[in-house]
Amino acid sequence: MASLISTLARIAFGPPPELVCRSNVWHAGVAELRRRTRGEREAGAFLLGRQGKWRVIEEFVFYDDVDPLSLATGIVVIDGRRLGALWAHCRATGLKVVADVHVHPGGYGQSKSDQANPIIAEVGHIAVILPDFAGRATDPGAIGVHQYLGNKRWRDRSRERRNPFHVGWWPR
Ligand SMILES: [Zn+2]
Repeated sequence: MASLISTLARIAFGPPPELVCRSNVWHAGVAELRRRTRGEREAGAFLLGRQGKWRVIEEFVFYDDVDPLSLATGIVVIDGRRLGALWAHCRATGLKVVADVHVHPGGYGQSKSDQANPIIAEVGHIAVILPDFAGRATDPGAIGVHQYLGNKRWRDRSRERRNPFHVGWWPR
């Protein structure tokens, strides 16, 4: 209820979010990521959805489903040659990669490698990072929300009061 009230207040008074995910889609995807970490390695997913006035996440495509070896070293490494199936899926469904998410063992700040290797090198793209193997905080305000500015530069928007990422109901 508190979250619905804050959503309504934001609709009335605040700027709209840039990235939205319904609560059931987000929490099911996050639970699956937590399972795939086995509490000992990073895991992640492409977040597929649609771009309208804001981006809406509709589907998680897990990195280890795209590339079975992507989690083998403990940090996420995706073999680019495996991405053909993902692009085919996007063409077939009309969805695009609207954001990405991965899990860290500790904090939600970006590593040097995260900054140097954006999953989608598109200005405005949002990379979400879940701390503590997704075992604790999983909602905006307590997770990493990093926006790509181009040229390997990022803006950390994790702690913004009007978070650019909204989990929950939002009017279309
Ligand atoms: Zn990372």
